[in-house]
Order: sequence, then structure tokens, then C-alpha cells
Amino acid sequence: MEKEIFIASKNKGKISEFESFFKSKGLSVKSLLDLPEEVDVLEDGNTFEENAIKKAETIGKKIGKPVLADDSGLEVDALNGEPGIFSARYAGIEKSDDANNEKLLNELTGIERERRTARFVCSLAIYFPTGEVKTVRGTCEGMIAETLQGEHGFGYDPLFYLPDVGMSMAQLEQEEKNRRSHRANALMKLAEHWQEWTTE
Ligand code: IMP
Repeated sequence: MEKEIFIASKNKGKISEFESFFKSKGLSVKSLLDLPEEVDVLEDGNTFEENAIKKAETIGKKIGKPVLADDSGLEVDALNGEPGIFSARYAGIEKSDDANNEKLLNELTGIERERRTARFVCSLAIYFPTGEVKTVRGTCEGMIAETLQGEHGFGYDPLFYLPDVGMSMAQLEQEEKNRRSHRANALMKLAEHWQEWTTE
């Protein structure tokens, strides 16, 4: 196993979350921010897993090193899992968090509290230079609130209510969110498999 892993992201928050995980495994971390040229991978899969695999594989084959890619989003039960893989562009291709939250609230008009269950999902795919790709899926369960609350985080965080803490995801401090998030849950699952996957 090589001593370096490449994170297929430009998001500094995500990169630092992943970095602390891999540093604990003795790996150094590089990301899209370290590549001299732009690499754009079209996310045209039908599932979070397909999108994460495509990203990890495309970049992995290009650079010949282990690559971690993620794809995440929100699944709302009363909307049959929407916005799902379309979470970023739910209200249009300009990818506006405000417009997405407004659309979500509109779609859920009249849906009573008990039926507003939802989850954040994070699929992680790791490409190994042997050509093998492994995936894990992490989730974080909650409810869609009727009003926006909190200033932290991003995306759907102000509408994502965590019943066990009595607050929205956007009301949590960043560190607390990082402990509870779907990405943290996916990294926990990755940790469970890491030994097995890197010694095969
Ligand atoms: P991406 O996989 O990071 O590109 O996320 C896709 C979209 O899912 C984001 O643009 C957000 O709308 C939503 N999303 C993913 N993770 C989170 C989160 O932790 N909080 C709020 N929204 C999220």
C-alpha cells in the first residue's frame, strides 16, 4: 500500500476532515487543489455510489495512486428519496442553497411533522492502483423542519433537524457536526474495513 492518498475534492472543509482520518492511518494527503490542471468528472450516475466510483476511478487511473472520492446528498422519505443525487441542483443548475431550501419547504407544504423524516447520505469510493474500487455508505438521520434555523454549515443544514439534540444541523458547532455527520459515519465504516482492504 502506498503512503499517499489523493482526495478527489476541492472543498477545504471536506479535505481537512478526510486528512485527519488518513493521517491517523499513516498516509499523507493530497487533493485536487494540488493538481496543476483542472479535472472535471461528469456526475451522471444514478446513485451516490456510481458518482463516487466514477470520480475515484477517473482520477485514480489518471494519476496512478489511491484516490478517495465522495458523493453526498439528502433523501426525504415523503418525497420518495428526493432530492437524492440531485441535492446540489434541486432548484436549478446554479446550485443555490437558498433556492434549494425554499423548494424543499414548498414540496413539503402540508406534510405533518411525523412524516418529514430524512437522512443525509455520504458514499465514499476508494480506488486502489490495482484497479479495485471499494465503497462505504454513511448516513445521518433527521427530520425536515418547517423553518430555517442556525447559521453554521451549508446546504440543507438549516432545515435538517436532529431530534436527539433538539437543534438543526446548522445550529451545531463545526466540530460537533463533524462528529455526527454522514461523512463521519462513512469514515467510521471505512475505518472498520481499512486494515482488510489495505493488506489484501
Ligand atoms: P456534494 O456531494 O458535497 O457535492 O453535496 C451535494 C449536495 O448535497 C450539496 O450541495 C448539499 O446540497 C447537499 N449536502 C451534502 N452534504 C451536506 C451537509 O453536510 N449539509 C447540508 N447539505 C449537504
